[in-house]
Amino acid sequence: MYIVGLTGGIGSGKTTVAKMFETLGIPVYYADTEAKQLMHTNTHIKNALIKQFGKEVYQDGMLNRAYLAEIVFHDKEKLVVLNSIVHPEVRKHFEQWTAKQQAVFVLKENAILFESDDAKNCHATLVVTAPIETRITRVIARDNTTAEAVKARINNQWDDSKKIERADFVIHNTNLTETIKQVKDTYQKIILRIK
Ligand code: ATP
Repeated sequence: MYIVGLTGGIGSGKTTVAKMFETLGIPVYYADTEAKQLMHTNTHIKNALIKQFGKEVYQDGMLNRAYLAEIVFHDKEKLVVLNSIVHPEVRKHFEQWTAKQQAVFVLKENAILFESDDAKNCHATLVVTAPIETRITRVIARDNTTAEAVKARINNQWDDSKKIERADFVIHNTNLTETIKQVKDTYQKIILRIK
């Protein structure tokens, strides 16, 4: 199966673009959502997290996301440990999912596709961009958060320029009508590349 990694900074419109591809019949794997789900359901992940971070990681059988976030936000090494527990299981899950798909290609949405080196597992990469101010405004409207909180997350991710340099395809998502056109155009370009 031909795999296209889809990425972009917070609020760029990755999910919006992914949904457009879905309307064209392209299956999308949402890596972040699946990872969160697996942290609830996957026994291997659960046991490893408890061993590493203590039994407080789960409260009444539910992942204590705030507790875990607090630990890894302040300690990069712990973040590496967390990723080393979760990522291999997500990779396995993705492989199983991919094997079940019947389409010309699939998209894998991953906010940290380049940062986590997951791009190397994809045949091609697509980055969604939008001006930083636009992204901040969108996320504030969507998540009822503050500009400072959004900026802090933006500063944790790579700059768009660094992603664009590495990407095979770029979609500039400001005007939705233009974005749909770019999605259709990119779809065709991917098909040509597969052939
Ligand atoms: P995150 O990294 O936070 O998951 P994302 O890159 O997936 O974000 P989306 O969730 O697709 O971004 O978009 C962020 C918000 O902006 C959503 O509420 C979405 O509906 C809105 N949005 C996306 N693209 C546009 C656009 N071109 N015009 C107006 N609103 C948009």
